[in-house]
Amino acid sequence: MDLKKFKAKASRKKEALSAFLLKLDDIVPHDMPELVARVDAKVWQDTDCTACANCCKTMTPTYIPSDINRIAKHLGMRPAEFKAKWLKKEEESGDWVNTTQPCQFLENDKCSIYTVRPVDCAEFPHHNKKPFDAYNETFTNNLIHCPATLTLVDRLKKAVEKDYEW
Ligand code: SF4
Ligand code: SF4
Repeated sequence: MDLKKFKAKASRKKEALSAFLLKLDDIVPHDMPELVARVDAKVWQDTDCTACANCCKTMTPTYIPSDINRIAKHLGMRPAEFKAKWLKKEEESGDWVNTTQPCQFLENDKCSIYTVRPVDCAEFPHHNKKPFDAYNETFTNNLIHCPATLTLVDRLKKAVEKDYEW
């Protein structure tokens, strides 16, 4: 994955794709779930996360209490110790997040705690959330972080604009 090329492409396309997602807030094609599933399946045939890891390099997951307990246990630490060492509580949301970027658990572009990673990481980039359009804001934010999301939204935009009066 050439992340420099991705960054350039994302900054070129971000405005138009954000506008598309914003419009999806008001107009949802009737076959959106099938369209998303079809296009997303193809996106993952063309995307290799193990050659990317840009989410782990440029974002932080949100750790829910069960994540903290599970990961701390895996590392042989107490949850309070784990939080003190690696996490901070965000003022506005109250969410527990990483203090550093890239993520402290990223080693040689691989997750060193993969089997016990936060649920947020396991579900990222959330393409299978339903309904898809309820997560437009998340996808808008992730356009510049995740090549898979950029490709998905780009292909959805093309498909919708081809088949609908948009
Ligand atoms: S916990 Fe693992 S998957 Fe999650 S951000 Fe860190 S390195 Fe990436
Ligand atoms: S989920 Fe997105 S940002 Fe993360 S590794 Fe896969 S393609 Fe890259």
